[in-house]
Amino acid sequence: MPKVYNWQLGREMAYSFPDARPKRQVGFVFDINRCIGCQTCTMACKSTWTFSRGQEHMWWNNVATKPFGGYPQHWDVKLLEKLGPQAWRSGVYAGRTIFENDKGGLREEPLGYLPQAPEWRFPNMYEDTATATSAQGLAQPIHSAFFFYLQRICNHCTYPGCLAACPRQSIYKRPEDGIVLVDQARCRGYQECVAGCPYKKSLFNTHTKTAEKCIACYPRVEQGTIPRCMAACVGHIRLAGWVSRPEAAREDNPIDYLVHVRKVALPLYPQFGTEPNLYYIPPRWVPRPYLTQMFGPGVEHAIKARTDPDPQLFAVLKLFGSTTRRIESYRFSGKSIKGIGAGSEAAVELPIEEPIFIRPFNDKAFAAYRFNEP
Ligand code: SF4
Ligand code: SF4
Repeated sequence: MPKVYNWQLGREMAYSFPDARPKRQVGFVFDINRCIGCQTCTMACKSTWTFSRGQEHMWWNNVATKPFGGYPQHWDVKLLEKLGPQAWRSGVYAGRTIFENDKGGLREEPLGYLPQAPEWRFPNMYEDTATATSAQGLAQPIHSAFFFYLQRICNHCTYPGCLAACPRQSIYKRPEDGIVLVDQARCRGYQECVAGCPYKKSLFNTHTKTAEKCIACYPRVEQGTIPRCMAACVGHIRLAGWVSRPEAAREDNPIDYLVHVRKVALPLYPQFGTEPNLYYIPPRWVPRPYLTQMFGPGVEHAIKARTDPDPQLFAVLKLFGSTTRRIESYRFSGKSIKGIGAGSEAAVELPIEEPIFIRPFNDKAFAAYRFNEP
C-alpha cells in the first residue's frame, strides 16, 4: 500500500499512488480579509470557460458566503460529518483523511458523496447572511455574529481525490506545473471524481456527459501570466506563483514566504488529506474555533502576523493584484518592493510608503467654498 508524506498533516498517509511530485507546482494565496464579494472573478471565469451548453450550472470559480453558503450546498459540512473526529496534536493531524480507513489503511475509494442536481443551483446562496445580529457592536475584534467570503477554485492538489477516484485514469497531474486536468477523450462520465473531490471542484457537463474542472487557465500559465479570476480580481486579494515543499522553500518566492516562512497563509480543510495548493489568509473577525476547523491549527499565528505586519510582510502583501504577470521572486529594499517574473526582469515595482502631499491652506478657496454652502 503506497504511503506518502503530507506536510500539511505533519505525517505520512495512505494514498492510491506513490508520491510523484511535479517539477514545479502552481500555488495561490487568497487574502480573505480583502474580498468584497463582488463576484468579478466568478464572471471572469464563467465568460472564459463555462458559457457553453451543459455548463449552465457550472462555476469553476465561485465566492460563497460562509458559514451558511456553499456550492454545492453544504458540501463541507456533509463531508466533515462523514470524516469523524478531526483532532490535531502538536501540529500533527490525528484523525483520518478521505483516503484512510479507521485503521489508517487505504480505503477502496476516497470518502465522498455525489451531490444531487438541486444542490448545484446556487453559487452564492445565503449571500451576505450573518450568523445572527450582534448585540456586541461592530468594534469587537472577534464578532459573535459574522460572515465572510470564501473564494473557491480547484486546489490543484498534490494528492487529488478526483484523480484517486477515477476508474478510467482520465485525470492526470501535469509534471511540469502540477495542474490537474481531465482527459476528455478517456472520460466516460461515471462522476466518481465528482464524488471523490472533497472540495467538489470536479463537475459534470450535462450535455457532453463528461467531467470538467478548473484548468488553472493553463494556457495563461504557460505564457507567464496569471489565471483570469486572479487578473480580474477587484479587491487585489489573489497572488499566483509557484509553491515549494517546506524543506525547499525560498524566502524570496512570495508564495513560499507567505506559506512556509511566515505561515500567514493556510490550506483549506487540510484534514481531507489532498494537500491543496491554494492557501488562505484567514479573516480576522471570525471566531477562532470555526476557523481552526476550516484552516487547521495555524490560525491564531496567521491572524496575528496579518493584523500587525512588519515592513517585509507588508511589502509582500502589496504584490497581490499588482500585475497580471506571474511573480516568481521579489526583492525588498526597505523603501520599495520589486516583483520579478520569469527571467530576471521586474514585472512591477511598488513604493512601500505612498508620498503624502499637504496642500497649503488657501483662504480664498475656503471662503468661496463657505459662500457656496447651502
Ligand atoms: S480540488 Fe478537487 S478537483 Fe481540484 S485537484 Fe483537488 S481533488 Fe481534484
Ligand atoms: S473579484 Fe476578488 S474581491 Fe471580487 S469577489 Fe472575487 S476574490 Fe473577492
